[in-house]
Amino acid sequence: MTTLAIDIGGTKLAAALIDREMNILDRREMATPASKTQDALQGCLAGLVAPLTTRAQRVAIASTGIIQNGVLSAINPENLGGLAHFPLVEVMARLTALPCIAVNDAQAAAWAEYRSLAAEVSDMVFITVSTGVGGGIVSDGKLLVGTGGLAGHIGHTLADPNGPRCGCGRIGCVEAIASGRGIAAAAKGELAGSDAKTIFARATQGHPQANALKQRSAQTLARLIADIKASTDCQCVVIGGSVGLSEGYIELVSTFLGEEPKTYRTQVLAARHQHNAGLFGAALLAQEAMP
Ligand SMILES: [Zn+2]
Repeated sequence: MTTLAIDIGGTKLAAALIDREMNILDRREMATPASKTQDALQGCLAGLVAPLTTRAQRVAIASTGIIQNGVLSAINPENLGGLAHFPLVEVMARLTALPCIAVNDAQAAAWAEYRSLAAEVSDMVFITVSTGVGGGIVSDGKLLVGTGGLAGHIGHTLADPNGPRCGCGRIGCVEAIASGRGIAAAAKGELAGSDAKTIFARATQGHPQANALKQRSAQTLARLIADIKASTDCQCVVIGGSVGLSEGYIELVSTFLGEEPKTYRTQVLAARHQHNAGLFGAALLAQEAMP
């Protein structure tokens, strides 16, 4: 059985053919349409999967946003603006004439990371820190999805009641402070207008404000991890994403976590799958749902 795995993100769309042993047989990528309307996304997805569909037996989608009963809705309108209600599974099943499942991208990535951990791990949490902050929770060997698909959206938990407004509408979410977008938004003076990558590069050179912004992100994440440990009693937290996997970031998070009481500490690991975590996780979930 070959799975056509699709990853729908705020900036790019990826599709891959993945076999039973999780080898990628073919992979394609394109930019997410700028207009972010249902018609534009549907058109791009059709073009992306057309050369791959005939070699697949099922479709597995990982997508940003909330996925409930195969329907996508955007939690943060800045990520996928026009997609208030996009019937993802229905559309892709019609386009490909194949059975189809869909799951939130961070939940999918959490499952891929969980399946690559040692067998004795039954409870873990995945956090991706990139443009936004996403997550997925595995409890007692099961991926938490929730009744409405919201489980694991830990980037929208409270970090600072006096913090900036998040794209989701709440004030002071972890995402509004710790994410690449949050880091860039807080930059002032000569760093104003710089992206997180540039700011982190300046931090490495010893720039005081850049360093403070990086520390603020890492400390916010460490506090989130302590909260997660208190609520899930996980055995480890796996961190991914372009900010999360940047040089020295996990070490910094671990240092801040070390300042919390011992009860709230847990092992912090780097994600293994990086860019393909969503694709692998969706493919694994499809394989388990449709053996
Ligand atoms: Zn939020």
